[in-house]
Amino acid sequence: MARVQLEHITKRYDDVTAVDDVSMEIEDGEFVTFVGPSGCGKSTTMETVAGLTQPTEGQVYIGDDDVTNLAPKDRGVAMVFQNIALFPHMDVFENISFGLRLRTYDDEEVHRRVEQAADIVQLEGMLDRMPDELSGGQRQRVAIARAIVRNPDVFLMDEPLANLDAKLRVHMRTELQRLHRELETTIIYVTHDQAEAMTMSDRIAVLNEGRLQQLAPPLTCYNEPANRFVAGFIGSPSMNFIEGELVDGSLETANFTVELDAARLPKVAVGDAVTLGIRPEDVHLTAYADSLAAPTEPIDAKTDVLEPMGDEVFVYLLLAEGAAGSMEEDPATSPNQLLMSVTPDTEIEADQDINVVLDRSKIHLFDAATGEALVHGITGLEGPESGTAPTEAE
Ligand code: ADP
Repeated sequence: MARVQLEHITKRYDDVTAVDDVSMEIEDGEFVTFVGPSGCGKSTTMETVAGLTQPTEGQVYIGDDDVTNLAPKDRGVAMVFQNIALFPHMDVFENISFGLRLRTYDDEEVHRRVEQAADIVQLEGMLDRMPDELSGGQRQRVAIARAIVRNPDVFLMDEPLANLDAKLRVHMRTELQRLHRELETTIIYVTHDQAEAMTMSDRIAVLNEGRLQQLAPPLTCYNEPANRFVAGFIGSPSMNFIEGELVDGSLETANFTVELDAARLPKVAVGDAVTLGIRPEDVHLTAYADSLAAPTEPIDAKTDVLEPMGDEVFVYLLLAEGAAGSMEEDPATSPNQLLMSVTPDTEIEADQDINVVLDRSKIHLFDAATGEALVHGITGLEGPESGTAPTEAE
């Protein structure tokens, strides 16, 4: 077990900056997931920990050691990749033990470690099977067992579930969590799948264009995203974003107004452009909004398309008169569209005029210029700040 520290890691390839000044500290025994869109630098960052990539600038520490210039085999790390390469002519036992034999452990120690690892990944009884007699999930477990037997300080996993079918992937997620609980080893996990990151990790490192956007527990990234990128990337379907402008006493968007005193927001002032963010589950039909402590004023909308998912229904709303539900327009960024999620028992149909409210406690505001989050929840931010208004008596 060991903590991992990245200090100002930058990796440049000719004209591409794959990783741009990334610093973070991963605690001993922590499960941290690097997540972000394809090409954001997740794999490259992890490869600098593995020793497969030499950073252009910066240092990597494992435990107390600066390992920046150490060979991969001397770092105490074990990797599991997306493409599981098992030796087809070797059985499960031989595949798992292959790396140990290279390290000249005696037979007894090899057997002990392989049996223990096979037990952890629930492959006991399958040690004499050949790879072509295994399912995709079992082959992946062999690959994980092969990493376990090396008893690494740090596990590095790069999209290890990407090639599995959807059901097996969900199953393997729970297995990896159990594995982490049993081994208590530091795990760094790479995925582009935000759901995978949300469900397994102690903390998520969200990357975009080589830069670290936020490193925080999953629910913090969800409820208090550091910026618009994290807000849009974490959560499915995505948060709605609506551009607006701060005017005296409110935030004005193309189709509705939210009461808000700009003086009570950090970093922005009347006249500034801000982006309002609201998740689909925080948009409510006015008729069903009794339970909300702080709803906005009702917003006129027309239902467009309904997507019943079984446990919830996604309702695409058009806010502007005559706004066509155009396929080219991303509903998450269109000022005239809003995605709402409702429970399946909600009485609602397509092409219906309705009123919705937003839960003020769940409205996020972002600086439109920088994308930086200004505030999460605007309950109580309407009207001038109490105590600062001049009193009549004086
Ligand atoms: P991710 O894992 O998030 O998909 P990568 O870390 O693989 O992203 O890549 C980050 C960026 O660096 C991409 O633009 C990719 O094309 C570039 N890149 C990665 N490896 C190399 C390389 N060996 N040579 C040149 N460019 C590379």
